[in-house]
Amino acid sequence: MHVFDLPQAPLQPLNLPWLQKAQVEAAILRLDLIDPLISGNKWFKLRHHLQQASTRKAPGLISLGGNHSNHLHALAAAGKRFGFATAGLLRGHAQETPTVRDLQALGMELHWLGYGGYRARNEPEFWAPWQARYPGWHCIPEGGGGPAGAQGCALIMQQARAQIAALGWSDYDAWWLAAGTGTTLAGLVQAEAGAHAVHGALAVPRDHGVPETVAALAGAPGYQIHDASRGGFGKFDDELLAFVAECELRSGVPLEALYTGKALLALRDQVEAGLFAPGTRLIFVHTGGLQGRRGYL
Ligand SMILES: *Cc1c(COP(=O)(O)O)cnc(C)c1O
Repeated sequence: MHVFDLPQAPLQPLNLPWLQKAQVEAAILRLDLIDPLISGNKWFKLRHHLQQASTRKAPGLISLGGNHSNHLHALAAAGKRFGFATAGLLRGHAQETPTVRDLQALGMELHWLGYGGYRARNEPEFWAPWQARYPGWHCIPEGGGGPAGAQGCALIMQQARAQIAALGWSDYDAWWLAAGTGTTLAGLVQAEAGAHAVHGALAVPRDHGVPETVAALAGAPGYQIHDASRGGFGKFDDELLAFVAECELRSGVPLEALYTGKALLALRDQVEAGLFAPGTRLIFVHTGGLQGRRGYL
């Protein structure tokens, strides 16, 4: 069977003054570095889908997202890399964004659903016409969510654990990462099975159903969800942008504001509020998404 692999994400020390002040040690797992085109957590959520598509000899993969979608970007790039056709169902009306141009260059067939059409994505009959149009293609839920996506995130845990000794750590205490659909968070909770705490910084408002999704997918306790959306998904403000610029300068790690920036800012607030005792060792997951920066910079 075909094995879908990319290089391991490096685990690097993360030094920032507010961490040092609270005597919290942190390392950053650089999922943004696994590949120049297939970025971040989206790859881990896609792996099982690629495997399923390969086992079923599906000619292509089809999924949905917005016009800055990191998920569609990773899917289009992975399809091209591993020899699958891809189709993307997009929210709203035809628009040129840097992401959309990449999707086209990577050979993804695009269909614009409008806003009403996109809202119907969770209805039972949604996929039928697309399955008729693309017979035998493998359909992936929005954002790579669902059990297959969550399962793929066990590999994130394995990659970090394989590298903690090189940092001089014997163990770690907790994870911190951005959550959108909550699939990556749920996957880590599932993989940890209570061994280490997992903290999700929620980039969307809490009442959008993410806590319920995480509870259903994770099937285990051992996690906390922190509000980090700062007024809504995709919203950013001057304090956030200044914080991101400052962290990039001090750490040398490129960030995007909407997920990793918000997650790091929520971490700073919790560290300053004393959530973590001195000596705590944290793994912050850089979930990637740098291609999406072109949409708001
Ligand atoms: C999609 C995305 C997330 C959220 O991942 P979920 O599994 O949907 O919670 C976090 N960070 C970045 C950069 C992303 O692109």
